[in-house]
Amino acid sequence: MKNDCLFCAIVDGEIPSTKVFEDELCYAFRDINPQAPAHILVVPKAHIASVAEVTEENAALAGHCLAVCAKIAVQEGLTGGYRIVSNCGDDAGQTVHHLHFHILGGERLNDHMA
Ligand code: 5GP
Ligand code: ZN
Repeated sequence: MKNDCLFCAIVDGEIPSTKVFEDELCYAFRDINPQAPAHILVVPKAHIASVAEVTEENAALAGHCLAVCAKIAVQEGLTGGYRIVSNCGDDAGQTVHHLHFHILGGERLNDHMA
């Protein structure tokens, strides 16, 4: 756990969240400000700041988070499809500097990538 990291505090249970899924490596919860009918965040329990800090050493953990995204999409009934987003750095508008994958779905999403 990293001091002053919001998502570390959520993983640790210090800040409440609506849990969707949890295993020994990752934690998933509903976004507090949903941008789609289904908006879930999947985070590794270990602190990694962003995709920019994914290396060969921790890539399996990031990959595991993606496998969990796929599992949650089934759990949430997102049969029509969904979008996975990971904002990295200021230009992308990353506001929480703990790696997270947004799962967005439950409606026809807009066609814009950015
Ligand atoms: P980013 O902009 O860094 O890609 O995404 C951060 C996300 O975290 C945002 O979608 C924001 O709504 C969500 N968020 C920020 N604070 C909280 C919180 O305290 N609880 C939950 N569940 N989501 C949060
Ligand atoms: Zn953290």
